[in-house]
Amino acid sequence: MPDPSVVAAFLTESHVALAGRITAYAARELVPLPEPADDAAARVQARDFVARLGGAGWFASIGELDLRAACLVRETLAGASPLADAVFALQALGTVPILLAGDPRLKERWLPSVLAGRAMASFAMTEPEAGSDAAAIATTARRDGTDYVLTGTKTLISNAGLADFYTVFASTDRDQGNKGISAFVVAADTPGVKFVRPLVLSAPHPLGEIAFEDCRVPASSRLGAEGAGFKLGLATLDRLRATVAAAACGMGARALEEALGHATRRRQFGRALAEFQLVQEKLARMATDLTAARLLTYRAAWEKDRGAERVTLEAAMAKAFATEAAQRIVDDAVQILGGRGVLASHPVDRLYRAVRALRIYEGTTEIQHLIVAGQLLKQAEGA
Ligand SMILES: Cc1cc2nc3c(=O)[nH]c(=O)nc-3n(C[C@H](O)[C@H](O)[C@H](O)COP(=O)(O)OP(=O)(O)OC[C@H]3O[C@@H](n4cnc5c(N)ncnc54)[C@H](O)[C@@H]3O)c2cc1C
Repeated sequence: MPDPSVVAAFLTESHVALAGRITAYAARELVPLPEPADDAAARVQARDFVARLGGAGWFASIGELDLRAACLVRETLAGASPLADAVFALQALGTVPILLAGDPRLKERWLPSVLAGRAMASFAMTEPEAGSDAAAIATTARRDGTDYVLTGTKTLISNAGLADFYTVFASTDRDQGNKGISAFVVAADTPGVKFVRPLVLSAPHPLGEIAFEDCRVPASSRLGAEGAGFKLGLATLDRLRATVAAAACGMGARALEEALGHATRRRQFGRALAEFQLVQEKLARMATDLTAARLLTYRAAWEKDRGAERVTLEAAMAKAFATEAAQRIVDDAVQILGGRGVLASHPVDRLYRAVRALRIYEGTTEIQHLIVAGQLLKQAEGA
């Protein structure tokens, strides 16, 4: 499990204590659980995790907007159960926009139940024709008296068909481009919300497509001003991106732990694998990549927690580096495990299937690199 001492410079004493508590919880409650056998079972387990994690108080960091605490929780959950981590991630993604821009009644309606694990959240931005280019959203929200009427399709949505509400991004004024996008909180039982179909991943993760068919919501469910939704979406992603990096670190740390254990136990040619320098070289690269990824991750979270308005550059660097590094670390772990590493029942195979999506969701690596370069060029122009 992750060692907080490596990133202690970025943590308070209470963060270090939290790391100890979540590590003990994950080892006791999550590590022994078998992986769900199929998508239906993953959906049942995801709902169960919402109640269990919420009941145990692990969503508190979301309500407190304590990014380092959220990173510590995601790092630990991801190494123990990637599905539990996904559950945490979506509670945060769906809820932070409400925290940042919801009116008091909206906050009252959803926040206590999300944080206690009685309600499951979702974040619905991606569409069939709007992925990396999120401003190309075609879902519309037409004003009609004191209501809005939503029409459109959202795809690749985590918790689709399971969530109690969707934080939805829709265009209120197509002519204004991204300045015409608004955000809404839509309860899943609102007439016109349709679960179209599940989309099944190789790793357990409830994903799917939803549609809004003349779905009427009161204007009070809008988050912030009309036209401010895109900015709110980006601010949410900017804030939570470091937690994706943290999840990647957690998967990398677990993979390294499994690889180290195996390399010291397994003997071939009369020696432990760990005695072969080719294996040592892999272990050294894995550990170095992991340490670098964790430093970038907690640096970004610390910057935000100490009051930085935006951590666009820091969070994009952390997300791109940590997710790419975790992919390499997990792949090397599979290699060190040999044939056992590709058995579906082995933790490193589970990580191998789970880690891949992290380089894609909440902005692909390529998009993160464009963000980093954009920030560098802006700084260079200002110099
Ligand atoms: C497991 C999982 C969970 C998800 N959960 C959610 C969710 O809960 N809510 C939600 O709204 N979305 C969710 N998504 C969607 C995710 O955010 C998108 O998949 C992601 O933003 C990329 O969009 P896309 O898949 O349409 O790929 P595209 O945008 O079509 O990109 C395809 C490839 O082209 C590259 N590319 C695109 N534009 C450029 C460019 N300008 N320069 C260089 N390369 C470029 C990309 O980097 C990528 O490699 C999820 C996705 C996954 C895999």
